[in-house]
Amino acid sequence: MMEQYHALKAQAEGCLLFYRMGDFFELFFDDAKQAAAILDIALTARGKDSGEPVPMCGVPVHAAEGYLARLIKAGCRVAIAEQVETPEQAKKRGGYKALVQRDIVRFVTAGTLTEEALLEPRRANMLAAVCEVRGIIGLASCDISTGQMVLEECDAESLNAALARIGASEVVAPEGWESVPEDAIERPRADFSSDEGERLLKSLHEVKTLDAFGDFSRAMLAAGGGLIAYLDHVGRGNLPLLLPPRIRAGNAQLAMDEATRASLEILVSQQGGRPGSLIAAVDRCVSGAGARQLADDLSSPLCDLSAISQRLALVDYFHRDPLLRADLREVLRALPDIGRALGRVVAGRGSPRDLGQIRDGLAEARRIRDFLSQKTDRPPLLDALLPMMAGHGALVDMMQRALIAAPPTERSNGGYIAEGYDAALDELRSVSGNARRAIAALEARYRTDTGIAALKIKHNGVLGYFIEVPAKHADPLMSADSGFTHRQTMAGAVRFNSLSLHEEAGRINEAGGHALVAEDAHFEQLTSAVVADRQAIAVTADALSRLDVSAGQAERAAESDWCRPEISESTTLEILGGRHPVVEAALAKSGDRFVANDCILDESDRLWLIGGPNMGGKSTFLRQNALIVLLAQAGGYVPAASARIGLVDRLFSRVGASDNLAKGRSTFMVEMVETAAILSQATDRSFVILDEVGRGTSTYDGLALAWAVVEAVHETNRSRCLFATHYHELARLADSCDSLSLHHVRAREWKGDLVLLHELAEGPADRSYGLAVARLAGIPKPVVKRAKSVLDKLEKGRAETGGLAAGLGDLPLFAAIIEQEGTQDTGILAQLMETDVDALSPREALELIYRLKQDAQAAEL
Ligand code: ADP
Repeated sequence: MMEQYHALKAQAEGCLLFYRMGDFFELFFDDAKQAAAILDIALTARGKDSGEPVPMCGVPVHAAEGYLARLIKAGCRVAIAEQVETPEQAKKRGGYKALVQRDIVRFVTAGTLTEEALLEPRRANMLAAVCEVRGIIGLASCDISTGQMVLEECDAESLNAALARIGASEVVAPEGWESVPEDAIERPRADFSSDEGERLLKSLHEVKTLDAFGDFSRAMLAAGGGLIAYLDHVGRGNLPLLLPPRIRAGNAQLAMDEATRASLEILVSQQGGRPGSLIAAVDRCVSGAGARQLADDLSSPLCDLSAISQRLALVDYFHRDPLLRADLREVLRALPDIGRALGRVVAGRGSPRDLGQIRDGLAEARRIRDFLSQKTDRPPLLDALLPMMAGHGALVDMMQRALIAAPPTERSNGGYIAEGYDAALDELRSVSGNARRAIAALEARYRTDTGIAALKIKHNGVLGYFIEVPAKHADPLMSADSGFTHRQTMAGAVRFNSLSLHEEAGRINEAGGHALVAEDAHFEQLTSAVVADRQAIAVTADALSRLDVSAGQAERAAESDWCRPEISESTTLEILGGRHPVVEAALAKSGDRFVANDCILDESDRLWLIGGPNMGGKSTFLRQNALIVLLAQAGGYVPAASARIGLVDRLFSRVGASDNLAKGRSTFMVEMVETAAILSQATDRSFVILDEVGRGTSTYDGLALAWAVVEAVHETNRSRCLFATHYHELARLADSCDSLSLHHVRAREWKGDLVLLHELAEGPADRSYGLAVARLAGIPKPVVKRAKSVLDKLEKGRAETGGLAAGLGDLPLFAAIIEQEGTQDTGILAQLMETDVDALSPREALELIYRLKQDAQAAEL
């Protein structure tokens, strides 16, 4: 047996091996140790291997899903080795001692789950494949629980941002590729071939050319090939549902890098969960599919004016009609998750219940369509969605006739095909029904014949039907001429058989067996009908989730008086009465009111420098404006009184010195790496929020860097930008930067207490109130007092020397420095050009090199 085990383990390629033995999946050796620790189950031992006991643990097959879920959550991948023949077949094949044949039937991995129990209903579960073809990176991603597949391209710099957007549970990449992403699973290089990818996609979707789906590049096809090859490997040749791939065009989306996503807490908060995230504050979807669509919308907001306007018009439509919205949401709430049911059916793991869900979902979709098509003034997006929800008439009709109202998840016991669908099946059922009635009559007759009132006819899995009497009445039935044959003696009862019972039971078994076969055949037929219609069903599911998202956005807007943003191609950003949806919700819980603030940026006033005390609301203000842009471009209403937003191409959010020690970089290093990315990528259409950048180092360094970063964003990137800082010295930048203005969050000291007003006002902050905040935080009075005297001394010294920023007034302009850089370069070039190299002595040549190097170093600084 161990030989078979080791052979399978070798095929399992680093996965834990679930080895089926009877009613258990067993794990051995290191697998057992690892699993026992994660699952908190007993580690035992079995037999010996090279003299050592073999560690073992096991989980019962019927409860395996729960254990699998925990292993997958803990980051494991699992190979399932099933018995692929019965013990009887094994005996026939190899005699009494033959080992039952086992095979790995599938791999269970985080990115390839379809089981309802293992998936979160409101979150997509993504698998991604990445590879490179001639310097271009291809990226394929899919959610196999619904079959959505997307192909795209990116460059090396934006790969991490793209992976962060997709948020895959599992990433595969070619073995040995130099840019393999962290934690990716490496697969054979041959899997990532564009020719093979193209062939697979064509055969999968039964088309001669992929043109109808889009114009795919080699890199996209190679990544698609890698993805399908991995799915094929994991399913052991059984491919899950895959819909025709869509192309994600790079410039159609609002670009956000990983740091920005994390800092804006879009789908997960800094604490790591959904609570406290943007989506938690926005999501009012009534279906899991809607919630997944919303998550996708928020992770990849649009950059396309007309697409955004279409979504907004649909939200507006539902916003204006609360009754329609309520009706629709009530229907959607009761709707089963067709997308995921379809995923299971196509993957070959569908149950009668899944078929029932698809039937009910499609029938309901049709009703929703009929109901909405009676409405007038439909916005264009709604008109586009309606036809997506029709066209399954024949399929629904067949499933309505074929299946009972609430089909079971378990297929093996039958009973899910409705009466009247198949006359032969009904006949078989009436045979077993008659026989069951005959058995009931038999029980009554035996009671009178034997005079034993406690006699019962029972059934169990081992004996089938049997007659049971209490032990004290058993003797008369034991005699040979009683008509009963003894089968089993229990503690208090004795069990018998009889000829008539045997006959009736035989009828039931036979008819039951035939009925099961007949039901199975119907199941297969219904399954193939669903599989054949899979693309259209998925389209319907998409339309329903878009309706849910739009109605949910309208609901959310109505709840807290959000407004429809006005989007344009300008570079204005005018948000009046803006609020932070998460902070506002948190404050509302404790009965506190959120103070709304305006943000008005345009060509002549692009950069706001925001000062004021800690805890004054600077970060909140910065983020709320970024979130409003994000929500608007995702096609939803926004928490503001009004919003006019010139399309943003890239959104950047940075917080100074955030703790990222987990990634092994010092906090200040992270701060600078992230800031460098902004300076190199932000454009005049971007929106940048910088929160206390420069905080992670000493005062002088920090101030100097903050100063230079503000200048660069202002002069070179020319992005719209909010910059929060506690360096008052930066206020002097207003003198040299035309499109920069000063703002602060207001605070007041009242009777020695600090009152934070959370209100934005124009002009520089008067002071930082650091000590007042410290007092507010409960720093003991003597310590605050002592700090106050230290501060006085420092400020006095500063005043005498002209302060921390003394001398900054004479700094040359940033623009001048950039110009000078160019001239210095040409200075070195000019010296070289002027030199007659042949006329130089070796010594002179060496001196020239020293001089040039000196000049170059001076230019660097
Ligand atoms: P800062 O960045 O200036 O240190 P924060 O933005 O972190 O300040 O805000 C600190 C706290 O003040 C928040 O957690 C919130 O409770 C409260 N706050 C911030 N902005 C507002 C506002 N506009 N209205 C009401 N409370 C606010």
